[in-house]
Amino acid sequence: MEINGKLLLAGLFADEIAGVIEALGEKAYRAKQIQQAVNKGCEVEEMLSLPGKIRESLSHRYITSGVKIDKCYVSALDCTEKYLYSLYDGNLIECVLMKYKYGSTLCVSTQVGCRMGCRFCASTLDGCVRNLTGGEILGQVLAANRHIGEKDPNDKVHNIVLMGSGEPLDNYDEVVRFLRLVNQKDGLNISSRNISMSTCGIVPKMYSLADEDIPVTLCVSLHAPNDEIRKQIMPIANAYSIKDIIKACRYYIRKTGRRVIFEYALVDGVNCSPANAAELASILRGMQCHVNVIPLNSVKERNLNTPAETTTNKFIDALKNEHISVTRRREMGDDIQGACGQLRRSHIREDKSR
Ligand code: SAH
Repeated sequence: MEINGKLLLAGLFADEIAGVIEALGEKAYRAKQIQQAVNKGCEVEEMLSLPGKIRESLSHRYITSGVKIDKCYVSALDCTEKYLYSLYDGNLIECVLMKYKYGSTLCVSTQVGCRMGCRFCASTLDGCVRNLTGGEILGQVLAANRHIGEKDPNDKVHNIVLMGSGEPLDNYDEVVRFLRLVNQKDGLNISSRNISMSTCGIVPKMYSLADEDIPVTLCVSLHAPNDEIRKQIMPIANAYSIKDIIKACRYYIRKTGRRVIFEYALVDGVNCSPANAAELASILRGMQCHVNVIPLNSVKERNLNTPAETTTNKFIDALKNEHISVTRRREMGDDIQGACGQLRRSHIREDKSR
């Protein structure tokens, strides 16, 4: 897929890069040099292991990913970093890097905006501008690696979560391409075990993903114990029922041997009563799964609120009492607009008001 008339080297598999080099009539080992430079996030003009002539021929048709860090914010609370990236066509996306003792986790975006319309989410407020290509999703990892490598050459992205802006399963082919690219032996070689993908529950694509033989951890944004409540906050609930989502999850677990993670954002007065917890426990009982409870990160544009601490704690305790595996997601980067889509929106607003 072209971005502003250019193809992305980061979006090509090793054998496809070999094809590009063959078409240029150059020696096969040049392809390996290109792959190594791509892995370091170098743009074509920085590929100094190549003769100028090859760089010149490549640059007519190719860029590496076009993904650049425009701004970087570091949380004073927890060292979370938030990047505002620009794409080759000028669109903006955002990414969060969370630092843990065992390595860094990067949260990548899969679309510019989102068309799923979840009521609590900032990413979807202006709809979906376009899908990202596999090369652009990988480009976010490459740019982050380069950035953190400048401070500490041994530091790099260890885990990836597809939980930024966009619905990954609404951009299925490019997301699967990314998952295979990042997994390549000659590429970044990040195992599926270190990757989680979050979906609002596009059921047919959940089955397709289960059959791809890329056993990433599947996270499902459930956010409600029944369809009636779910429809109030997630329009996708009109297309797929919780029953069908659970059935698809069971298939995913059977095919991949991995447990599924259910995300549950607590919205005050909507989905966090003890009765809601009991109903949630009843649909998940006996399943190989885990629940990640997230107190709502309130978004200025939405009049939905975070519940009181006691409500959150009671909800979690009720699930525990029902023997459901549950944790509360740490709220990171609250001071740097850590939640989905908040940073991109505030920048678009700033630009418009100039
Ligand atoms: N489209 C995917 C990935 C999006 S975001 C999905 O729907 O799963 C990752 C998670 O953050 C999702 O569970 C999403 O529902 C949740 N989320 C979005 N906005 C939020 C907010 N304001 N507060 C808490 N969680 C939010």
